[in-house]
Amino acid sequence: MEIEDMVANSALIKAREGVGSNGRSWKWREMLRFPHISQCNDLATTIERDYYSLCVRQPIGKKLFQLFCRSQPELQNHMSLQDALDAFETKSDEERRDFGMSIVQRFLMTQSIQCVSIALKHKQSCTQNLDQDPCGDVFRDCREDLHKYLSGEPFIQYQKSMFFDRFLQWKQLERKPITKQTFRKYRLLGKGGFGEVWAYQVRATGMMYACKKLEKTHVKTRKGESMALNEKQILESLDSRFVVNLAYAYETKQALCMVLTMMSGGDLRFHIYNIGKPGLDTERVCFYAAEVCCGLIHLHQKSILYRDLKPENILLDDKGHIRISDLGLAVRLSEGKLVRGRVGTLGYMAPEVIGHERYGMSADWWGLGCLVYEMTAGQPPFRARGEHPKTSEMERRIQMGQEEYSDKFSMVAKDLCSLLLTKDPKRRLGCQDSKGREVQAHPFFQKINFRMLELGLVKPPFKPDPRQVYCSDVHDIDEFSTLKGVTLNQSDNEFYSKFNTGSVPITWQNEIIETGCFKELNLFGPEGSRSPDLDC
Ligand code: ADP
Ligand code: MG
Ligand code: MG
Repeated sequence: MEIEDMVANSALIKAREGVGSNGRSWKWREMLRFPHISQCNDLATTIERDYYSLCVRQPIGKKLFQLFCRSQPELQNHMSLQDALDAFETKSDEERRDFGMSIVQRFLMTQSIQCVSIALKHKQSCTQNLDQDPCGDVFRDCREDLHKYLSGEPFIQYQKSMFFDRFLQWKQLERKPITKQTFRKYRLLGKGGFGEVWAYQVRATGMMYACKKLEKTHVKTRKGESMALNEKQILESLDSRFVVNLAYAYETKQALCMVLTMMSGGDLRFHIYNIGKPGLDTERVCFYAAEVCCGLIHLHQKSILYRDLKPENILLDDKGHIRISDLGLAVRLSEGKLVRGRVGTLGYMAPEVIGHERYGMSADWWGLGCLVYEMTAGQPPFRARGEHPKTSEMERRIQMGQEEYSDKFSMVAKDLCSLLLTKDPKRRLGCQDSKGREVQAHPFFQKINFRMLELGLVKPPFKPDPRQVYCSDVHDIDEFSTLKGVTLNQSDNEFYSKFNTGSVPITWQNEIIETGCFKELNLFGPEGSRSPDLDC
């Protein structure tokens, strides 16, 4: 490793360690200074007054609405009930029945001082649910009624309160234009088809991200406009812990930039091949496959077909959880429709993709089969390590060949792979009506508690070393240059402005909360004092 690489790595490691208040610019308060409320008038008239969006889905919105409700004596019990229902979801299977019963006793009994009258009618059904299936969605109706109530008069009063004014101030900050100056740049992480990926840090908050750059000249030369826009639009419509999040989309003179969740643990390809013997132990295979499965289900629920499942595209974060990345080939299918098109990476393409047939979500379940196979065997299903068969030979093997299972495969692993690698998409596991739940129900995943996994509450079997940088040395990543002689014009600008939408609300608000900026800045009162009962 050259000295320059070591310097770049240690700067990145130091920045990662400093996340939290240390990574912030000394001018951070100024950067995040609230605009005067009069500057939010425009926003106040245009913002959609939708309760779910403003008070449930947007993290800062949810906090401010809760602060408002906590300031209203008659809503105390409603808020305590809401907190208890949130806490209930994080309880282990064993704790759920008792904890659930304590909720019923505290809030759903007329004689209790914390009784919430609008929820009383659910007492019996909730008790019954707790008895029969404490791991089901026990309080669903109760929660819905609570929201129904809060979305009425309380929501109206909230919009007249200082808490909503504060929300508008945050929203105004959220809309600040994003430029190069928003970020501090660290080392080069990798290279993609249209440009480089760099480690970035937001100056104001200290949050680390990965910035995927698309060089405008390359995009134009290779007619990548719709692909770039497609990737950006799909990413911003998602909110899953198993898919990288988009935080910002902006442009510079030379590039379009997508700022994404930083995944500092490297990709699965690296972990399968570059550490000891090729392949991963069963526990890791099972954990990663389960998380990928949740990611696919999330995408498919939103009618998005991913089409590029392979070890390189599955990235690890610092704790050892995975996320699906690189959504450049993803497509949104319209209701019940199928697509055609030979896209993806040959070795991982499903038989129906290779065969120019129409296909749907089946292609991704095939991809999961390839992934589980490769993690287990230490080589992909239709090609030996180091072997480079001709395209036609690869196609033949995928469409007709029978993959082989060495003794690295347990009975259940073999069963899962062969069901996912079923040639006929109609008979393949995952392609029935259950939308992937049948994959989760396979005995291979017996030890996985998918409810807890989806909440991020299962501890990963492997944690990446925080002192290691899991990517190629800066020197080994070829430089990306702008192409000379390509001129950009007005129609290009139209496309750029569609891309350049700035902060993505949910990701941005999470950044503000996670880095502690919300807590430090969200003060009320004359000297910025905050009465203790408003703490959250
Ligand atoms: P392309 O679509 O052009 O293939 P990718 O999205 O695959 O681009 O990114 C290229 C490379 O950049 C990846 O192989 C990986 O090394 C690195 N990379 C991409 N996204 C991230 C991320 N969120 N965190 C860390 N590294 C990333
Ligand atoms: Mg890629
Ligand atoms: Mg791509």
